Amino acid sequence: MMNTLAQTLQKFTLDMEAAESASKNQTSHSDAQNIIKELDRGIVDKERKQPRRRYLGASSLGDPCPRKLQYRYMNQEVDEGKEFPAQTLRIFGLGHVIEDMMIMYFRDAGFDLRTEKKGEQFGFETAGGEVRGHIDGVICGGPLHMRYPMLWECKSASEKKFNEFVRKGVAEANPVYAAQVALYQAYMELTENPCVFTVLNKNTSEIYIEMIPFNGELAQATSDKAVQILKATQAGDMLPRVAQNNDYFVCKYCEFRNTCWSKKEGAV
Ligand code: SF4
Repeated sequence: MMNTLAQTLQKFTLDMEAAESASKNQTSHSDAQNIIKELDRGIVDKERKQPRRRYLGASSLGDPCPRKLQYRYMNQEVDEGKEFPAQTLRIFGLGHVIEDMMIMYFRDAGFDLRTEKKGEQFGFETAGGEVRGHIDGVICGGPLHMRYPMLWECKSASEKKFNEFVRKGVAEANPVYAAQVALYQAYMELTENPCVFTVLNKNTSEIYIEMIPFNGELAQATSDKAVQILKATQAGDMLPRVAQNNDYFVCKYCEFRNTCWSKKEGAV
């Protein structure tokens, strides 16, 4: 059966409207993507402008590869394409916001949680300022009859990582954090009472708290590692690699993988 003129016109109009709508959707999709790209650019640019560290950060001294820590201490440029992408920087930013929330929860509950001294984050430095650490806080009192003061460390984690903390405990789930806690307790002279290690689940907002007693052996071993890195750098030596080849899982995620494996063992 032949279409009437009216039917043909109606179909033509509908087709035109559909094409226009698809084109509008495409435009608004690409506009949205362009906005996200700009946000990413702003985040990465801001990060690049941050002053670079000129000391050995105590928070990462538990890393299994001393050479990686030495590269960081030496301010070695990271490999091309290994800078933190905007999304990772947003995850770090979210961690800071969560920390502020946790501070509020502790204080609302009546804990005397101190996080700064004269407007600056609590911390310590040693070896003439070459090794430094910044702690999240100290709990000096509270509604529970406990022994104060206690070091407070605050982390946030995805559901999967959170469950690992719950199942395995901090020492096994994240040895870098365990070394950080031991070292901070030692240098802040907060060894008498356990550290209140707090993790907030970013998916469910559940809270996990582990009371971590001071581990003197771990603190000593971590401090020795720091001395080893400082000495090697002063002597112009590179510390040995953590692995025999660059396929080792620690190397796969290392920001200095190309730099490291393009040099002879021991070369700076
Ligand atoms: S690539 Fe591997 S051995 Fe080299 S610094 Fe990184 S983690 Fe260490």
